[in-house]
Amino acid sequence: MHSFIHTKNGVQLSSPAYQTVQQERENQVSKPIQIRLLSEQETAKLMNTIRFNFLSPTRCISCGNTSGFERQVFWIGGVPKAEQNSDSIHELIAYHLKKSHGVESVFFKTQHNKFYVDSAKCKRCASTMIEFDIEFSDEVLA
Ligand SMILES: [Zn+2]
Repeated sequence: MHSFIHTKNGVQLSSPAYQTVQQERENQVSKPIQIRLLSEQETAKLMNTIRFNFLSPTRCISCGNTSGFERQVFWIGGVPKAEQNSDSIHELIAYHLKKSHGVESVFFKTQHNKFYVDSAKCKRCASTMIEFDIEFSDEVLA
């Protein structure tokens, strides 16, 4: 995790703004970012929350399948609220998930002050390049 942060920093040394952000992060004795795949039970619980499930898997980009997705949700720790919308943090986490979990396509969500990454796997072809979209169910419209 840390070696990746430093590599990235090295690439962007020419940007003073970026250096300042990075410096502040280091000064905070920044906690390492933690990533944990939620259990099936924890995932099922979150899926019952309309707000969390508002954006959900609709189509497999690889095979065109539109139903039957295995949901993979990761809990992310060690990212302060102010950084949870940061593109560089998103890139860093997406990169890590791709490398360590083979997840190609991720969506960042917050729920009850917790920070999550939502992703899905196609049950037909096992691809993780899945399109997510907003699904209007009766519950949401009610
Ligand atoms: Zn597929």
